[in-house]
Amino acid sequence: MQIATTSGSKGFIDQKEIEQLRVSMRGRLLLPGEPDYDKARVIFNGMFDRHPALIARCRGVADVIDAVRFARRHHLLTAVRAGGHSVAGNSTCDDGLVIDVSLMSSVTVDRNRRIARVQGGATWGDVDRETQAFDLATPGGIVSHTGVAGLTLNGGIGWLRNRYGLTCDNLVSAEVVTANGDVLTASANENADLFWGLRGGGGNFGIVTSFEFALHPVGPLVATVFSMYPMAATRDILKRWREWIASAPDEASTEIVTWTAPAAATLPPAVHDQAVVIAAGVYVGDAQEGLRVLEPLRQFGKPLGEIAGAIPYRSVQSAFDASLPNTGEVLAYWKSLYLDHLTDSAIEIMADRAENRSSRSTMVFVQHLGGAVRRVRQDETAFPTRDAAFVMNFMGDWRDPRETPQHIAWVREAWSRLAPHSTGAVYLNYVGQEERDADSLVRSAFGSNYDRLAQIKRKYDPTNLLRLNQNIKPASADESNPPAADAAET
Ligand SMILES: Cc1cc2nc3c(=O)[nH]c(=O)nc-3n(C[C@H](O)[C@H](O)[C@H](O)COP(=O)(O)OP(=O)(O)OC[C@H]3O[C@@H](n4cnc5c(N)ncnc54)[C@H](O)[C@@H]3O)c2cc1C
Repeated sequence: MQIATTSGSKGFIDQKEIEQLRVSMRGRLLLPGEPDYDKARVIFNGMFDRHPALIARCRGVADVIDAVRFARRHHLLTAVRAGGHSVAGNSTCDDGLVIDVSLMSSVTVDRNRRIARVQGGATWGDVDRETQAFDLATPGGIVSHTGVAGLTLNGGIGWLRNRYGLTCDNLVSAEVVTANGDVLTASANENADLFWGLRGGGGNFGIVTSFEFALHPVGPLVATVFSMYPMAATRDILKRWREWIASAPDEASTEIVTWTAPAAATLPPAVHDQAVVIAAGVYVGDAQEGLRVLEPLRQFGKPLGEIAGAIPYRSVQSAFDASLPNTGEVLAYWKSLYLDHLTDSAIEIMADRAENRSSRSTMVFVQHLGGAVRRVRQDETAFPTRDAAFVMNFMGDWRDPRETPQHIAWVREAWSRLAPHSTGAVYLNYVGQEERDADSLVRSAFGSNYDRLAQIKRKYDPTNLLRLNQNIKPASADESNPPAADAAET
């Protein structure tokens, strides 16, 4: 079989070797033309209609080890897939191997230690289902079919962030199959350099087969407000929100989203098909107190419709699911940046771009980062951006592939207009297929954490087998170890 190699050239693998891998696996190895292959190659973002040579649907750690060793032996171009939500399309490839861990989705909760053990292919829906049985949660994403792995490894920004931090801040340990097929535990006490790198450094250092997360008391009902105003009010809403968050408590995580609300049964009929700006917030703690705290979000103007009340946490976590189906039908192009301040000029650009979006379903999305997110030092974890007050995302979303160029152009233009008002950093989980040079994008995203990450990459994946990600190049042999890398191991 012809395959793509890591050097960019074509290679060849004997059918006998493929069959050996197939029989060794507890899961299935899928090749083009075989039943379920076409289903297994679909990822969230339909822009990436790729045809891997092999899809290894792993059932356990042993399958992952064999798949990694096979990839390494054949210098196979290798993608790693968990939830399949990489907006940049990094979890698939043409003619290479996809190591798919999505069948490894078990979650177990240790109530006494307040720890969840989560397999590497679980989604946030899997985690919330099990942890909420005990009124516990760990900070995840805001769409339940998003994968735990990708989201955690590059940070993780969700509704619990200001109270309990990013997802990666709640990682207690991870089991990792490294690029040469070794199985390691990474925690504060074991392979501490790897543990540091996993908390924000992405899928660069190995394949995580399970995570342990700290759990916190959450719900089962949480105070929630989604107040939907006419989009024409965006400027005003953003200004009122800016004022309000200046004194908002850590328990509240809030955001402003512009969007054309779909005619979904979960939304009030008054907003169906309407262009709206949503003032959205979730409060972690006493629900009645939370409703009092969030009440101002409902009074920024006259909402067209609202969802407000003490709502099951799992319903909040899946509120956006139906609008972002995980079927490959969404074509997505995202571009993010961070802002220190929401200036009037930045607000004007966001509102103007929202009103003049090229696709109805495109969102302009700005999230407040405060409290626990910003109390972590920038060098405490690999996640590099701790001081910005806002992360924003132009989320291009459309369905017709013929329209792709116009929507990508809209996102790029909107981003370019806002960029001069930003910190210059990007959130790597909100990055689509970039027009910028990948190496300089990743370097600038990690800033002063980059050199330490490159040393860790060199130690755990010296040949850069795992390169289909927000890629950190292994430090070259003559680069001396920066002292910080050693410090992490003590
Ligand atoms: C609909 C939608 C909603 C989102 N919501 C949020 C949100 O609320 N908050 C937020 O912060 N981000 C959010 N994101 C961005 C999301 O965090 C990233 O797209 C993330 O990469 C998705 O993880 P995944 O496991 O689903 O992705 P995949 O596409 O499966 O993987 C992405 C990358 O992660 C790495 N990876 C995956 N599995 C493993 C593993 N087991 N071990 C090692 N590396 C691995 C690989 O490098 C892979 O390329 C959202 C994205 C989408 C599409």
